[in-house]
Amino acid sequence: MSAVRLGEVTITRVVEIGRSSFPTTTMLPDSTPEGIAAHYHWLRPDFFDEAAGDLASRIQTYVVRTPRHTVLIDTCVGNEKTRTGAPAWHMRRGSYLDDLRAAGVTPEQVDIVVCTHLHVDHVGWNTRWIDGRWVPTFPNAKYVIAGEEWEFWKGESDAGREEYGCVADSVVPVVEAGQVTLVDSDHAIDPYLSLEPSPGHTPGHVCVRLRTAAGEAVFSGDLMHRTVQVAEPQWSSRFCHDPARARATRRDFVERHADSGVLILAAHFPRPGFIVRERGGRRFEPAPGAA
Ligand SMILES: [Zn+2]
Repeated sequence: MSAVRLGEVTITRVVEIGRSSFPTTTMLPDSTPEGIAAHYHWLRPDFFDEAAGDLASRIQTYVVRTPRHTVLIDTCVGNEKTRTGAPAWHMRRGSYLDDLRAAGVTPEQVDIVVCTHLHVDHVGWNTRWIDGRWVPTFPNAKYVIAGEEWEFWKGESDAGREEYGCVADSVVPVVEAGQVTLVDSDHAIDPYLSLEPSPGHTPGHVCVRLRTAAGEAVFSGDLMHRTVQVAEPQWSSRFCHDPARARATRRDFVERHADSGVLILAAHFPRPGFIVRERGGRRFEPAPGAA
């Protein structure tokens, strides 16, 4: 996307992977092809991948530059990580850091990294493989993680229940380097950015709210995976830890933001936009100029 300017803050993004490994009907087990197609009139063309014949999806990082800080929100899959069972994620040699540089940010310039939650596609670039070990990719950054999220995933990892090993290779090394700050789920990062609890997808999932003189935005992580969930918020994803709680959180989020003018930036949506009411329903509308 070209940079979005909101008052004194700019938002750009780095796309690591331009499509999903999972068809929408697999990602959202309660959905049906017919139920999704009923929304094609607004999903096409902005939120559709015609080549894949499915809703568009991204794995991406949002780069937020406030007058105080350069902030990364979610860090994708990462390079050289053993992700057996996920071919698109396994031992990657992607150009993410070059793409970040092209967006005007070197690893040294990153002040804060926020992980909305600790899933494999949100923590990968927290670390990189240097001289035989995983080290923090952003040497000067403070990594902000909700304490509740860390406690949950540390427990899963210690018990051998974390499928990909991403806690061990992408979170623990940053904790051991002393760069992680564990915070409450409503923590204020700076005068512009603050966390908001949005549990369900994972126990400690957070959104990141941006407030500027020119308006608000919210980075909603995996509260929604596919744009169609704006209209069908009862469809939780196959990766939701607590689908019923995720559903309640999503419904509340959609209602609170409908016709609010708040810019929504979801971790996997192909472009930012606004939730709008239309004929008793809800849909997503692309933000102008932010493709
Ligand atoms: Zn995700």
